[in-house]
Amino acid sequence: MSSSLRFITQNHPLIKIDPLSSDPIAGRLAVHTITTNPWSLAEAAKHYSARGIGGISVWIEALQGISDSQAHRILDDAGLKVPALVRGGFFCHDSAAERQFRIDRNRQLLATAAAIEAEMMVLVVGAHPGAPLETQRHWVADAIEALIPDVEATGVKLAIEPLHPMYAGDRSCINRIAEARDICQRLNHPLIGVAVDVYHVWWDPDLQREIELLGQQKTLFAYHLCDWRIPTRDMLNDRALMGDGCIDLPGITAMVRAAGFDGWDEVEIFSEDHWKEDQHQFLDSILDRYSRLCTAM
Ligand code: ZN
Repeated sequence: MSSSLRFITQNHPLIKIDPLSSDPIAGRLAVHTITTNPWSLAEAAKHYSARGIGGISVWIEALQGISDSQAHRILDDAGLKVPALVRGGFFCHDSAAERQFRIDRNRQLLATAAAIEAEMMVLVVGAHPGAPLETQRHWVADAIEALIPDVEATGVKLAIEPLHPMYAGDRSCINRIAEARDICQRLNHPLIGVAVDVYHVWWDPDLQREIELLGQQKTLFAYHLCDWRIPTRDMLNDRALMGDGCIDLPGITAMVRAAGFDGWDEVEIFSEDHWKEDQHQFLDSILDRYSRLCTAM
């Protein structure tokens, strides 16, 4: 059976809840600029908009060489909504002075997020090799707490993204939704929540319960889509197109819908293979696979 066919043959008990809008491409689909990395921000905005895609999540790398106001104009002219600026964070370091420097850097990024009218900023929280993970999670909570005045001033939400445990050594001391949720509960602020990326959490035995709890606690802020390639050849840049891997995307999407999430479905694929393709054809494939996923819902 092909993986695409898998989308329309599985049967999930939760999928009756919260049906998609009549035009999910315009109303629900967003693409991360990193997905079409060879394109500039202007090219990505133009081509996404031409396909009727409603949203664009902007990676900070896509802003290099252009001012925040120029970026805002590009996005505004294209008529695109901006679910997220990706990504702030990287809070973890054993030097307090360095941690403060990183908090200040996140303040600047929040200002950029506000300037491009991003709804949230995604946080990859970082990791410091050698420090206990629990200590590092306290650093993260303290850093996010320090940013709350800026969050309130800008209105830009912060979404903590748990990363797959293969990144626990040097990219993220938060690897399960439960750990991100703990920080949200500790800070208990309506603008602090969690980004659920299928690539990072699909393996979690508590996934359904954790997504339910995020829904109940109003902290499910973002949903990122791609797939897990078998075999994965690179820890970072080998994400697969939806349907080309082993993740139960209809099942997880059903969990997210059942939890009451009504935000963007954000396609986030970093892949050396796909970046070598014609990006227009790649975007065709993304739209095709996303439509199949919607049909499966
Ligand atoms: Zn993500």
